[in-house]
Amino acid sequence: MRTLMLASVLLFAVSCAAGGGAAVTSNDAVSSTPKAPYGIWGEAVSTATSVEGRTIEAYKLGDGPTTVLFVGVVHGSEPVGQGLLGRFIEELKLNKAALAGRTAIVVPVLNPDGLAANTRTNARGVDLNRNFPAGNFDASARRGPEPLSEPESRFLHALIGTWKPVRIVAVHQPLRCINFDGPVGDLAAEMARLSLFPLKSDIGFPTPGSLGSWAGGDLGIGVITLEHTPSNDVLQAWIQHRESLLLALKGL
Ligand SMILES: [Zn+2]
Repeated sequence: MRTLMLASVLLFAVSCAAGGGAAVTSNDAVSSTPKAPYGIWGEAVSTATSVEGRTIEAYKLGDGPTTVLFVGVVHGSEPVGQGLLGRFIEELKLNKAALAGRTAIVVPVLNPDGLAANTRTNARGVDLNRNFPAGNFDASARRGPEPLSEPESRFLHALIGTWKPVRIVAVHQPLRCINFDGPVGDLAAEMARLSLFPLKSDIGFPTPGSLGSWAGGDLGIGVITLEHTPSNDVLQAWIQHRESLLLALKGL
């Protein structure tokens, strides 16, 4: 009986893995209803894949009319966003009050190939946070030959088009500040207060083609960049930013 159960579990695991590997393009990988595959934190709403074929998991929590997008590990060498947003997903599964009137779309890892290789860029050496169709996009090998040349940036672009978030929170490292683009200055200031980080309206260097330049500057969707410290201690990051992330979902 025990052997039979084990065999069933293995068969299930194999069939799930086979289903999850189906090839889809970024643009048709965004669904308004949850579907396979199951990711680390439950049922994912995307089957988009990276350059090297890794799934870019996105999770939907809540059903409210106001959607907020959270994205981590845009840069693969900044891993704390994965655990931090994983904790946030677990919190939202239990804390239904936090989801009143809200839908949270959470992408813990936008750049799974970079995370695996510990590189800032994706597998083709492109910095995804310079590959968005902002007015200030500036083509280069490092920024991509054209906007959205990479499957990971195309995926996030499609996700934003589908879900129309009112604001976006991106988790980065290691600059230890809250930075913002677009009409979210007051909220960013309150998040900075809660996270005990300085607020910076200007990160101090040009970021052509960044998510902030495109969504925040060009589209007017506020983008808050939570720049954590160099520390990859997820529990410490969670304790520090829990209230801040909850406020980002709720709004002022
Ligand atoms: Zn970064």
